[in-house]
Amino acid sequence: MNHLNKDAQILQEIFNQVQQQGLAYLNDIHERPTRSEQKVTTTTNLSIDGIGTLDTLKYFNERFEPIIVASSGPRYWGFVTGGTTPAAIAGDWLTTIYDQNTQSIKGNGDISAIIELETIQLLLSLFNLPKDFFGGFVTGATLSNFSCLAVARQWIGKQLGKDFSRDGITTGVKVLSATPHSSAIKSLAMLGIGSNNFIPVNVSAGNREAIDITDLTEKIKALNGEPFILISSAGTVNTVDFDDFEAIHQLKEQYNFWWHIDAAFGGFAACSPLYKHLVKGWENADSITVDCHKWLNVPYESAVFFVKEKHQRLQVETFQNSNAAYLGDPQENFSYLNFLPENSRRLKALPTWFTLMSYGKTGYKELVESNVLMAQQFADFITNNKNFELLAPVRLNTVCFTLVNEDLVADFLNQLNATGKVFMTPTFYNGKKGIRAAFVNWRTSTNDIAIASAEMERIATSLYI
Ligand SMILES: *Cc1c(COP(=O)(O)O)cnc(C)c1O
Repeated sequence: MNHLNKDAQILQEIFNQVQQQGLAYLNDIHERPTRSEQKVTTTTNLSIDGIGTLDTLKYFNERFEPIIVASSGPRYWGFVTGGTTPAAIAGDWLTTIYDQNTQSIKGNGDISAIIELETIQLLLSLFNLPKDFFGGFVTGATLSNFSCLAVARQWIGKQLGKDFSRDGITTGVKVLSATPHSSAIKSLAMLGIGSNNFIPVNVSAGNREAIDITDLTEKIKALNGEPFILISSAGTVNTVDFDDFEAIHQLKEQYNFWWHIDAAFGGFAACSPLYKHLVKGWENADSITVDCHKWLNVPYESAVFFVKEKHQRLQVETFQNSNAAYLGDPQENFSYLNFLPENSRRLKALPTWFTLMSYGKTGYKELVESNVLMAQQFADFITNNKNFELLAPVRLNTVCFTLVNEDLVADFLNQLNATGKVFMTPTFYNGKKGIRAAFVNWRTSTNDIAIASAEMERIATSLYI
């Protein structure tokens, strides 16, 4: 441990170098390529004595640093990839430095869970959601969907007089959805419900991904009163379509089901008076998934689940640590480890707490509106350029488009991404090969739209000749 003791002596120098490097990365993020073509060979043998942090940093910088792409930069439009606000970075650094194990609010003498509970309240306030939701942090929307659907599964058992957590799933679980995210389907696989076992509901007519309420009603009636889980969407990934939450709420008044909303990024529509109508009625859901590492612009890995407080007993039945004595009142001796999949966990809430305190409701209203404006400007370019066409209207922050000659999509996208100036991802929508550009980074500006459009114009022109 020779190097460890030495490193402890030169912590200041280590911090200085990391800080300088971090600043250099962020100051240069507009120029750094969004894609790297370089191949790396990996090492498999560990050295006997190690080389200490400063030499390790040098070695990292020789091998990896130059090929790290600007995925947190303003022109990384693939998937739904958020950036990082300065406040979120500060909170994230401190999370590492304090290295809390965030579980109970008393017991270990550690108060970090109080910060997490407070952050959940701040998020509910940001989204104008009522305070009868309980929430916590997990790694991403996949785990949030998983956690919410796990409680839903326990709820189904309860309706049938069974305890799936204790006894396993002893009957099939009915799940309805129109355009579920792949991670919700994956969750069904992980939960033993089975990824094949969801009942597809039609989408609305007219190039939509939202659920068709008439078909949903028929599919519900066909279940003859059997309880089921509805997975609905606040923002599908291709076209950012939203289910009609007011209509679903009305159905919920009549039929017995668990209503889950995947609002991974679309939930941020609630931050702007211009777009909050898209989530009207979502407060009536039993559970909601929201990602923080997307539109909130905090670093990976960060997402939250919101589950109605009235389901807390089911949630504890689902996640109760088997070693813990049964908690009569889940709020007494509260510990996160009885409410979600993990036991030990970092203080994931802190970056979110920092960014919410720093920028407030107006900061996020402006961030959301600016990104939507960028999507609209980019869509204008697509509409006005003879080489491209939109595959769907721009409802919020994502542009789904194709080339007029659809056969050129793959070539075009390869060439475009190879420029390193912008990064987008392929998709398939409405029977056509397409491309998606998602705007969720606070740094993206009109200038970035211009840079990307110029490259696109150039490549499309060369392909069409
Ligand atoms: C991104 C996304 C997910 C998965 O989220 P991860 O954070 O990658 O786990 C789930 N649902 C929707 C709608 C998403 O956009």
